[in-house]
Amino acid sequence: MQKILFKNIDVPDARSLDTYKSRGGYAALKKALSLPPEKLISMVEESGLRGRGGAGFPAGIKWKFLPKDRNRTIYLICNADEGEPGTFKDRHIMEFDPHLLIEGMTITAYAIGAHHGFIYIRGEYNWIAKLLMSAIIEAVTEGFVGYNILNSGFSFYIDVFRGAGSYVCGEETALMESIEGKAGRPRLKPPFPATFGLYGESTVIHNVSTLSCVPFIIEKGPEAFSKIGKPRSHGTKLFGISGHVNKPGLYEYPMGTPLRKLIYEAAGGVRGGKRLKAVIPGGLSSPILTADEIDVEMDFDSLLSIGSMLGSGGIIVMDEDTSIPMIAQKTAKFFAHESCGQCTPCREGTNMIKFLIDRIIAGKGGHTDLEQILRLCRYIKGSTICAFGAAAAMPLNAMIKKFRGEFEALVR
Ligand code: SF4
Repeated sequence: MQKILFKNIDVPDARSLDTYKSRGGYAALKKALSLPPEKLISMVEESGLRGRGGAGFPAGIKWKFLPKDRNRTIYLICNADEGEPGTFKDRHIMEFDPHLLIEGMTITAYAIGAHHGFIYIRGEYNWIAKLLMSAIIEAVTEGFVGYNILNSGFSFYIDVFRGAGSYVCGEETALMESIEGKAGRPRLKPPFPATFGLYGESTVIHNVSTLSCVPFIIEKGPEAFSKIGKPRSHGTKLFGISGHVNKPGLYEYPMGTPLRKLIYEAAGGVRGGKRLKAVIPGGLSSPILTADEIDVEMDFDSLLSIGSMLGSGGIIVMDEDTSIPMIAQKTAKFFAHESCGQCTPCREGTNMIKFLIDRIIAGKGGHTDLEQILRLCRYIKGSTICAFGAAAAMPLNAMIKKFRGEFEALVR
């Protein structure tokens, strides 16, 4: 099976520059620097690469949104905040193959005309931030990053910026506010980052996994990437499988691989031979699936068609002993805590939902509480500044609708 993101992970000392180079590393950068930037943009567009962070926006189109004036300041940001519960894909790339990300960033910067990039890494990954900084210094020393890269005349510098533990700083504009030294709160859009991003300048922001696909596309060609996976969901994806499985871990599979195969083949099935009860397919904000729905293919469109989403690819498996109301309680607590508080529906709604679920779990809830939660979920969705409101409402809505009997048993 073709590996794009995990091709070096199992190699001893994979994170060193020497190992990376010995396995063909930075060949894609050399090729990229010999091509005009417009050609790189069209290659990435042809490849069909879509954002791996959750939204799935086509990368090449994002690059094309930038103003054509090449004299403008353009920033490139790598979103390494990875705060979505159940998600641990980016940390492995950064920890074990940091030059893959650095090469992907440098090629992207050359394509879009950025001379300054940031890796915004979640605060809890402080040892990975240090590893990244060492890798960047190695790359600068060998001329792959910094002034006049490989004598091409192109210069690009990378800073590592540590977040401070806020989930909402994974939202692109909140992340930019955070780099600017302000409270990490999302901005109203438009304007979008392509025209008004970091420090008011044009900015392209991508997830770690998205940028790490770029060297493969440039080196092997867009067709090599687009022939993997499914139409509209090209390439491979890192799936982090956790919860009640025999072999929790991170697995690279083509887009469109059935969820059943990931759970029962890659992760070795449900722990202790128990029955499967439910699966969260793409990080906590993706709506829960029942055991009957796991024949779904793991790509953007297939999951949308059954009312969920691919999200971050963080798969959380739950066995027959799991209490879904307890999962809902943890979910509600998390989102109520992480709301930045700017919009009333999100700030008040998430706290009210948490209050109602706590009351139900405590055995003091009434039948109207469930309807009230569902009503709040409807009100929150679509009436907030950023997608956090929907991210909080959708999973809770799905848990109650699909496992309603368990909630009703608690209010009887
Ligand atoms: Fe903040 Fe929530 Fe509004 Fe997003 S939806 S801006 S997290 S209050």
